[in-house]
Amino acid sequence: MPSACGASEHGVAVSQPPGRFAQHLASVAPPPLMDLGAALAHPSLEALPTLLSPEVLPRLEELAQQAREVTLQRFGRAVRLFAPLYVSNACLSSCTYCGFSKELDVARRTLTVEQVVSEARTLVDRGFRHLLLVSGEHRVEVSADYLVQCVEALRPFVPSISVETQTWSDDTYARLVAAGLEGVVHYQETYDRERYAETHLAGWKRDYDRRLSSTERAAEAGVRRLGIGALLGLSADWRADVLAVARHAVWLQRTYWRTEVTVSLPRIKASASGFQPLVPVSDAEYVQALCALRLAAPEAGIVLSTREPAALRDGLARIAVTSMSAGSSTEPGGYLTPGEAQEQFSVSDERTPAQVAAMLEAAGYEPVWKDAFPLVELG
Ligand code: SF4
Repeated sequence: MPSACGASEHGVAVSQPPGRFAQHLASVAPPPLMDLGAALAHPSLEALPTLLSPEVLPRLEELAQQAREVTLQRFGRAVRLFAPLYVSNACLSSCTYCGFSKELDVARRTLTVEQVVSEARTLVDRGFRHLLLVSGEHRVEVSADYLVQCVEALRPFVPSISVETQTWSDDTYARLVAAGLEGVVHYQETYDRERYAETHLAGWKRDYDRRLSSTERAAEAGVRRLGIGALLGLSADWRADVLAVARHAVWLQRTYWRTEVTVSLPRIKASASGFQPLVPVSDAEYVQALCALRLAAPEAGIVLSTREPAALRDGLARIAVTSMSAGSSTEPGGYLTPGEAQEQFSVSDERTPAQVAAMLEAAGYEPVWKDAFPLVELG
């Protein structure tokens, strides 16, 4: 049975050629390992493979201290808080690690626009002003028209709206921007083409190049915040994925200098898929990855979700993280009517948004519910 992969939003077969970053990535070799002292003294993209090597673990404290200093210099004592708002778990793609994968017999639900508004009002009442609309990849249930309607309905009372949905190759990003969209999040999951093909079996998401070039299309359509990331544990070489994420972030920042770029490195969590990570990434390795990423891509915001346990999140907020979700539900309708649909993955940090904000304040940080200044119009 043919998959949806390679078809346009309107069902006409097209193939996505490699985008500009894919061409850039193919043209650069990974930097060689260097002297550890030199890498720590002059952290950079070139030093990143060394900073990610196991030899750094005994000097993790030193790495973390450097990362903390850079984070404080670039971002100050402020951590942005946001909430994911799952609008649908319907999906036409098949990804081996995901609880929404199309072949799974799970409870599916797509919220009406009115239900999306109700969930958003609940989150606004809890303090959030940054919302991330999340859905599976279902171009009928979560169509471009539906997303535009959601953004238009939320815009009057939600100052910052981002989406994490399927990728688009038509004018959808421009329509969403016109409706008031600020950000787009598309994680590549793994930058290893072979492993990508093994874990993305059908649907839009199977097209590696379509996925990888999506942030370029979004930026060109006027999206002002871009989120990228890799799912650690999906490929056997998580260090290679961290290097690719850092390169991607720096390339996006240089190419689309008007946009804000954030990166995220979620670790695989238990889901209805039953997927087990190829390699476990320990807590110490995870801290190392985020610290090294901070040093190699110092301008990039780093996002941390509630997948990670509270104690680890509290520590990372003082070192490298600049944006956190809090009090999250990963099922559609989960804030007002939980238990009616399958969640995407289980949450580890179950504290309320107020408790997370209190933790930040106790550590001397400002929880930022809404940016003090709107992003400047530079055009
Ligand atoms: S990762 Fe996204 S595209 Fe893949 S099955 Fe899950 S929701 Fe669908």
